[in-house]
Amino acid sequence: MLSKAGLYARIAGYMFVIIGEELSYIFSKAAVRLRARLFGSIDPAQRDRTIVIVGASFAGHHVARLVAGQLSPQSRYRVVVIEPNSHFQFTWVLPRFCVVKGHEEKAFIPYGRYASSLPGVLEWIQDRVVSIDKTHVRLAKGLDPIQYDYLVLATGSGVKTGLPSRVNATEKSAGVELIRDVQRGIETAKTVVVVGGGAAGMEVATDAKDLYPDKNIILVHSRPAVMHRFGKRLQDEAMQALKRLGVEVILEDRVVDEDPAAKKVTLRSGREISCDYFVSPSLTPSSFSLALSEIWRCSSRPRHHQVNCTGQAPCSQVLASVSPNSISPNGYIKVKPTLQVADEELSHVYACGDVADTETPCPNARSALRQATTVARNVLRAVDGKEPKYEYRSHWADTFIKLTLGLDRSTTFMGDGHKDLMFRAKEKNITLMVKQTWARLGQTPYEDKYDGKEGEEVKLE
Ligand SMILES: Cc1cc2nc3c(=O)[nH]c(=O)nc-3n(C[C@H](O)[C@H](O)[C@H](O)COP(=O)(O)OP(=O)(O)OC[C@H]3O[C@@H](n4cnc5c(N)ncnc54)[C@H](O)[C@@H]3O)c2cc1C
Repeated sequence: MLSKAGLYARIAGYMFVIIGEELSYIFSKAAVRLRARLFGSIDPAQRDRTIVIVGASFAGHHVARLVAGQLSPQSRYRVVVIEPNSHFQFTWVLPRFCVVKGHEEKAFIPYGRYASSLPGVLEWIQDRVVSIDKTHVRLAKGLDPIQYDYLVLATGSGVKTGLPSRVNATEKSAGVELIRDVQRGIETAKTVVVVGGGAAGMEVATDAKDLYPDKNIILVHSRPAVMHRFGKRLQDEAMQALKRLGVEVILEDRVVDEDPAAKKVTLRSGREISCDYFVSPSLTPSSFSLALSEIWRCSSRPRHHQVNCTGQAPCSQVLASVSPNSISPNGYIKVKPTLQVADEELSHVYACGDVADTETPCPNARSALRQATTVARNVLRAVDGKEPKYEYRSHWADTFIKLTLGLDRSTTFMGDGHKDLMFRAKEKNITLMVKQTWARLGQTPYEDKYDGKEGEEVKLE
């Protein structure tokens, strides 16, 4: 077992590599711009080869940034991003903003400045890909299929019933309203049942009890411990926080029926719980991944009495008709270490992020960004006629999670079941890392004229 010093050294090495990659991108992009200024760029009309990126959350957005920013001024390639959402939807703050009012607009960050490029290199289409074949992608709204030379699938994962895990609305204004619906549901309820003791369920339950100590908040989880995908130390820490706040925890049981009219849910054990707001289960990941994303992603609103905190399912359906064998039984896209899809006839198709089967123990934004870097580097080699050579390996530090345990504290944990590190912290800012994320994406917090309103940063007393 590695000592603590060894683990810190691994984190330092991990950070060093990430910073090195970012600096390399900054220099490379500056060199591209300088070459364009000195020697000119190809006419955009002559960029007749296409790299299509499907999905622009952590993984796809980062691939777009790295590839579009580094394509040679003389390259015949262009990048086309296809993403149904009007804004980058920042998942990390959704559980918090489903409880705490007044910040919901901040979870939707405008696209635009993060992935910048020479004129004519990057095209953005707000639409959904419904299917692909070996040469084209078909869009939900777009009439003409788009031909591609290289394709990156970064379609991530989702949940059928949406918040607090996913928004399931493409427009910011609709998403903001959905979050407000959940806030109102919790605010006006006397008893709230939260289903799912993973990160989203934990955060909603602890925030709700912290903000509204007089409400009954009941967390139902099917496993013997909350945060069961993480190490024992984090599980114990989470359980202590629930006890400290007074959240009632029911383990090894699940909700099998809900009756909004009678205001009650029934558990598998037969126990009935009266509640006026239900943070509910969804379809299981395996059955759910077979459902067409169109049906639920574009569905108008979840049932008003529900909030879902249970597991997410990979959105791999677009690959189903062209390469069904590349989809694992639990719905992930099978990939080679280079992150090319594991199908010899699709060596020009890559997958990264939550949708890819990379054997990452706890997939998260960090692993999605690292995979995006691997894909971008391989695509940039491929457009230069070289074989992809960069490989993605999951790293121990990818398991990093920062879990809020009430409004003013959090625990950061890294661990793979054998070796772990854990830190407790006081949280001063109720909006967590949203301001920094706006800045990281090149936006001025919180300038966004989507409907003429802007949010404000609020500190905890
Ligand atoms: C509530 C919550 C809190 C989290 N907190 C953290 C955290 O604190 N730290 C952390 O590191 N990770 C966190 N995560 C995990 C992190 O959000 C995911 O790992 C990350 O979002 C994965 O990024 P992705 O780009 O692979 O996929 P996703 O974020 O799932 O995005 C996929 C994108 O593809 C688009 N898309 C899907 N289908 C199609 C299609 N057919 N056509 C076109 N576009 C499509 C979607 O609109 C979406 O924008 C959290 C997740 C949740 C749900």
